[in-house]
Amino acid sequence: MECICPIDEKCASEVCSLLRPPSPLQVQEYFDQLISIRNCHGLIVKQNSEIGKGVYADTDFDEEELVLKDQMLAGIQHSSNKMDCLVCSFCFRFIGSVELQIGRKLYLQSLGDSANNGCQMGASSHVSKDCYDTDSSDMEDGSYTKNHENLENCASSSSKDNISLPEGVVQSLMNGELVLPYSNKFLLPSTVPCPGGCGEAYYCSKSCAEADWELFHSLLCTGEGSEAPSREALLKFIEHANGTNDIFLLAAKAICFTISRYRKLKLKADHLEEQGKSTSVESSNLSLLLEAWKPISIGYKRRWWDCIALPDDVDFSDEASFRMQIRELAFTSLQLLKAAIFDKECEALFSLEIYGHIIGMFELNNLDLVVASPVEDYFLYIDDLPHPDKKEAEKITRPILDALGEDYSICCQGTAFFPLQSCMNHSCCPNAKAFKREEDRDGQATVIALRSHLQGRRGYHFIYR
Ligand SMILES: [Zn+2]
Ligand SMILES: [Zn+2]
Repeated sequence: MECICPIDEKCASEVCSLLRPPSPLQVQEYFDQLISIRNCHGLIVKQNSEIGKGVYADTDFDEEELVLKDQMLAGIQHSSNKMDCLVCSFCFRFIGSVELQIGRKLYLQSLGDSANNGCQMGASSHVSKDCYDTDSSDMEDGSYTKNHENLENCASSSSKDNISLPEGVVQSLMNGELVLPYSNKFLLPSTVPCPGGCGEAYYCSKSCAEADWELFHSLLCTGEGSEAPSREALLKFIEHANGTNDIFLLAAKAICFTISRYRKLKLKADHLEEQGKSTSVESSNLSLLLEAWKPISIGYKRRWWDCIALPDDVDFSDEASFRMQIRELAFTSLQLLKAAIFDKECEALFSLEIYGHIIGMFELNNLDLVVASPVEDYFLYIDDLPHPDKKEAEKITRPILDALGEDYSICCQGTAFFPLQSCMNHSCCPNAKAFKREEDRDGQATVIALRSHLQGRRGYHFIYR
């Protein structure tokens, strides 16, 4: 039987207002403003009733020239990638040090392996706590590894066939006692832990920590400082998302983003109303919610269960029941999220219609989030060293590389929604591509011109490296 979301019925008119596509004028204003904030010279967004929005070159671009850098509206690192790469939870830059990246990965790999062996042998746990005790102030309680229960279940790589290192090496890599040769050429920003104390989110800077807290994380933090009404429910929501589809974590971010913006606007409106400077229409809850929702309203949307591609292993005759199952999965996730972060004033955001459309928007528009690993660069650098420096360095680095195995170079992987990039159309005759250059070391989308003289043309095609 079809599950019915009571909020869909109760908030029908609010839901309808939220899902009404913005007027062409509103869309134009939004993108004109975005292009000016992003400092994207030579670009304009044009709308066309046939093909919708498109990004047009308004000037000539040379081959290989940067067309635009687009900051994401919301993005996530895939759960399965978290054991391989420690990145800033806001800008997705690699953080800590090359040694910490390597030590943490080896440590989590060993946990995954011992958990697997443990299952076979019936042992409960044989992970020594000392493995991650450390004096480093950044690491406080060694909480980079606090969530290893989750991580080991979704480990993308295994050290099964890799050579293991002498005891103590992994710990000294993690606590900074072991400094690898030439690693000072690959310095990374030091880690800033989440101010809420969850031990899950780390940042490259205080400003990233603050921005993430303000926009998303205050409601999604599982630490003591969290502003989520129920941390217990939040943990259940996260566990469900990690076990089914991590797109739910991204949808939750979009909802938190809207609630956070709504609360800010509300404070401002209350203040103005007190001073008699605004009307009740301007400061009605719905108009504030619509304003808070605006950046998400711009993205093209359909319900997730209507637009998701039918997997190859599902027969056409089972399509209806497949789509129904997807809808039910979303409903289950939404109920868990609602139990964790519900806000009465933003009730319409917790309707299944809205949840389904947010996920559908990500399904239709998202771009892979990729950030190259400094660990890969490090080992390439060592490999390129002249003799005899290379031989000397490899005495230390070779066993570590062997322990990491062929997965040593895994990059940060995730998915994100980029407002400007999402307006670019696909083409079989592309004149631009999404491409990360050497200097592009964070989660922003980067688009590069493929041919010169692009004036007035469109048809940007994305090929991610
Ligand atoms: Zn950052
Ligand atoms: Zn946190």
